[in-house]
Amino acid sequence: MRNTFNFSAGPAVMPEQVLQDVADETLNYKGSGMSVMEISHRSSLFQSIIDETEENLRKLMNIPNDYEVLFLQGGTTLQFAMIPMNFMRNRKAEYILTGYWAKKAYEEATLFGDVNIVASSEDRNFSYIPDCSDLDIDNKSDYLYMCENNTIYGTKFHTKPNSKGKILINDISSSFLSEPMNVSDYDMLFGGIQKNLGPAGLVIAIIRKDLISEFVLKGTPTMLRYKTHADKGSMYNTPPTYNIYIVGKVIKWIQSSGSLEKMREYNEKKANILYDYLDKSKMFYGLADKESRSLMNVTFRTNSKELDSNFVELASRNNIISIKGHRVIGGMRASLYNAMPVEGVEHLVKFMEAFEKEGGKKL
Ligand SMILES: *Cc1c(COP(=O)(O)O)cnc(C)c1O
Repeated sequence: MRNTFNFSAGPAVMPEQVLQDVADETLNYKGSGMSVMEISHRSSLFQSIIDETEENLRKLMNIPNDYEVLFLQGGTTLQFAMIPMNFMRNRKAEYILTGYWAKKAYEEATLFGDVNIVASSEDRNFSYIPDCSDLDIDNKSDYLYMCENNTIYGTKFHTKPNSKGKILINDISSSFLSEPMNVSDYDMLFGGIQKNLGPAGLVIAIIRKDLISEFVLKGTPTMLRYKTHADKGSMYNTPPTYNIYIVGKVIKWIQSSGSLEKMREYNEKKANILYDYLDKSKMFYGLADKESRSLMNVTFRTNSKELDSNFVELASRNNIISIKGHRVIGGMRASLYNAMPVEGVEHLVKFMEAFEKEGGKKL
């Protein structure tokens, strides 16, 4: 096992087994004499990689047949524009504001239509998930938008919003494959893979097939229509072949560890180690309300900026990497994605205990 523990929010830690497998196949993939990065996307060898990746993702998430799985580019951020361009028939949509990324998505959507904020937790710096059981949704709205796990603030929806029959679109970038979810509760799920599934540069979108149509807002480029990608099996142009290959490996790694239920148990175990410590510490405290806590991103701080930066600096000398919080919130953030081993969290908590015991002084 490597001795550095990378708590980065993304790009993030990868399963060591996957890195090793990929290294073993770098020069010669399955006797082809080529690396996967050298193989034509039109070859049967690559076709079987993308087919198998999609098939295994469908099995793992239990994706119903009436949903399309698309491999897209442009990061999660491009989806913030593609969603309104493809779905805003009435030029009206509802957004739930639970953090930085939800707000970015909202702001992008305002370029295209009349966008309403139906719930928000901005009043308390996005430290909680607002009640979404009875939202005031306009009948004419085209969809309701949410971000399931708020990477920067460390909160997560634990119950699905009541969308009252509206199309429900969910950014799952930082909770993708971290636990089971009922795909058919949503009309579209999407996420960048660099948090939990692979290297940066690929977005996976899971969309109800009947929502993918000829309709787009006037002027929408060909590349930004879901239909373009659906019609061509995600190969309208050259897809990020190497990323698709690696995601395929990560999915197999999860499958070999059991199931998404198993993954959730493991992720709960890790998060609980850190949250339990935060709840009893006299120096560190968690930033998210208990009932809204994320399993993937744990945000915390001390009551002094100086102590915080001292902590981050000393942590890095103790093999604890990228523990600094996002600039908009400060403090610290430990991202505990699937590939973070339990040993990493134990190491972090031990270090926090020692730091607290020494009153934040040199260790
Ligand atoms: C990281 C992240 C994004 C932004 O992803 P990019 O691929 O950099 O555009 C959007 N939403 C969530 C929830 C994220 O965690």
